[in-house]
Amino acid sequence: MTKPPNDPSLRSWIRVPKGSDFPIQNIPFGIASWNGEPPLPATRIGDTVVDLSILADMGLLDGTGIAREAFLASRLNDLMAFGKPAARALRERLSELFREENPTLRDDNELREDALLPADQVRMHIPVEVGDYTDFYSSREHATNVGTMFRDPANALLPNWLHLPVGYHGRASSLIPSGVPLHRPMGQTRPDPNAPPVFGPTKQLDFELEVGFLTFPGKPLGQRISTAEAADHIFGLVLFNDWSARDIQSWEYVPLGPFLAKNFASSMSTWVVTLDALEPFRTAGPAQDPTPLTYLRTQGHEAFDIALEVDIAPEGGAATTICRSNFKHLYWSMAQQLAHHTVNGCNVRCGDLMASGTISGPTPDSYGSMLELTWRGTKPIQLSNGEERKFINDGDTVTMRGHCEKDGLRIGFGEVEAKVLPALPFA
Ligand code: CA
Repeated sequence: MTKPPNDPSLRSWIRVPKGSDFPIQNIPFGIASWNGEPPLPATRIGDTVVDLSILADMGLLDGTGIAREAFLASRLNDLMAFGKPAARALRERLSELFREENPTLRDDNELREDALLPADQVRMHIPVEVGDYTDFYSSREHATNVGTMFRDPANALLPNWLHLPVGYHGRASSLIPSGVPLHRPMGQTRPDPNAPPVFGPTKQLDFELEVGFLTFPGKPLGQRISTAEAADHIFGLVLFNDWSARDIQSWEYVPLGPFLAKNFASSMSTWVVTLDALEPFRTAGPAQDPTPLTYLRTQGHEAFDIALEVDIAPEGGAATTICRSNFKHLYWSMAQQLAHHTVNGCNVRCGDLMASGTISGPTPDSYGSMLELTWRGTKPIQLSNGEERKFINDGDTVTMRGHCEKDGLRIGFGEVEAKVLPALPFA
């Protein structure tokens, strides 16, 4: 019997540098373009990007259940529309094609030259056309920190928080891929509670360290996805920076929640790491007390051990790592988020994005936002060049990374990075 794609002993004939996020056990999916050609589905091994349209055109991906046309689309949705069994078969097929002992591509110079490209010569795009984006609020530490700062330390968590995964509907139109800069947003704030509001660029621009998952087609309207079924409806995960303007947020959010403080940009990493690739890194999540209602209960391990970190690099300066957290700290799991989202019959569609909410850990250096790291600006962070930060300045580049590691196997996401440009003036 051939080894499964997650077997740590697998090796590829494509060179994989030590410490790479993309060994043959990963096989992520993304949308890439090169030489100004239209974007196409791709995967990556080491520092090599593979054009899947060429492999499909040669018939090498037949038998996975995915139509060849899906490999000619500029987003992964057409491919994801075939569902989990097909996506799994595709990953298994690619794993076989790139194993060191498989000569099919390895010994075909012409095909290899056509299909393989150096990662640094490729432009990556938003991998999925996201229809609906939902943002959860699933880190107990984050919710506790925010509740302590903005409301009441004695009652930091609102009464519903331990009973359901709190979330809100976000906006998909302003999702940007890693590498695309954003302008500082402008908006209404009320710095002096005894004076009228003012208008101008946000003075409290913040990142939120999150992980998002992308869905397969799901079920029809009216039906629900159980926690046990959730994994069958999750294609893969991306790193996610849910940019936030804290001063705009604190003035506008009552009573319906965040609006313009959150919808001006959200950055996502460009390689979707499949849930299948992450299976070896399942781990126990935090104990849940009180026991959730029946529809939110789960069996087995529903958390994933993904180490996360955030860097800030000032204009022309070196990066400083300011946060180290982990996806496993989340109180509410992806399975619970999806079950809760659909329990009223709300349908999810192929390519919906569900983000975790800011992933803060238990220690002050693991908080996933500047709001918490600097405790609302009262404890500035020192960068390696001596500068201080309370929030994010113009010219700063914020980079998030994530990876899993176990038994000598490392599976990573690469990075999600964005530079902050000054606010655009009114024309
Ligand atoms: Ca968020």
